Amino acid sequence: MHVAFVGLGSNLGNDRNGIFESPKQQLLNAIQSIDNQTTINLLRTSPFYQTQAIGPGDQPDYINAAIKIETSLSAHQLLLALQSIENQQGRVRKERWGARTLDLDILVFDQLIENSEQLILPHPRAHERAFVLAPLNDLDPNLVIPKRGNISSLLANCSMQGIVKLHD
Ligand code: ATP
Ligand code: MG
Ligand code: MG
Repeated sequence: MHVAFVGLGSNLGNDRNGIFESPKQQLLNAIQSIDNQTTINLLRTSPFYQTQAIGPGDQPDYINAAIKIETSLSAHQLLLALQSIENQQGRVRKERWGARTLDLDILVFDQLIENSEQLILPHPRAHERAFVLAPLNDLDPNLVIPKRGNISSLLANCSMQGIVKLHD
């Protein structure tokens, strides 16, 4: 079994059978779909955060979170499973870092270091993004991002401007 941390983000609603579903609902749906996979066991879900978009143009705020999972899948198989859930939830790829209904990124997979065309591990920008580090810190402040260091010290060096923890 492998342990992995997956980052979730959405800043666009999606129309499902004529019903509008908000970014927060996109995350809840994605977590449910991940939990429904027989090959994945959901261990923990972080609090949700509202975060200012960093992509091009004037984009709506994101809702971001992270989950800790256990899986029998390889890292590549996990990426394919996550991409299939993104597609089911109306992910359209236009411009890089454009607004999206759902983004599922593998942040850390065991302590694996990988640099293939489809998959870079750990995620190449996780260590510098407050919207990734804050929910990871909630899940496990002692988690180490290979080559980068532990979450709590990475977070201490990162600006929390534009990042608000949501309390439901
Ligand atoms: P960013 O990587 O900066 O968060 P993004 O999530 O918007 O940007 P996507 O359009 O979702 O980027 O993905 C682009 C490609 O990134 C995917 O086709 C995938 O093959 C590749 N990729 C590389 N490493 C990872 C990873 N660790 N998790 C998810 N996708 C990855
Ligand atoms: Mg991403
Ligand atoms: Mg992505």
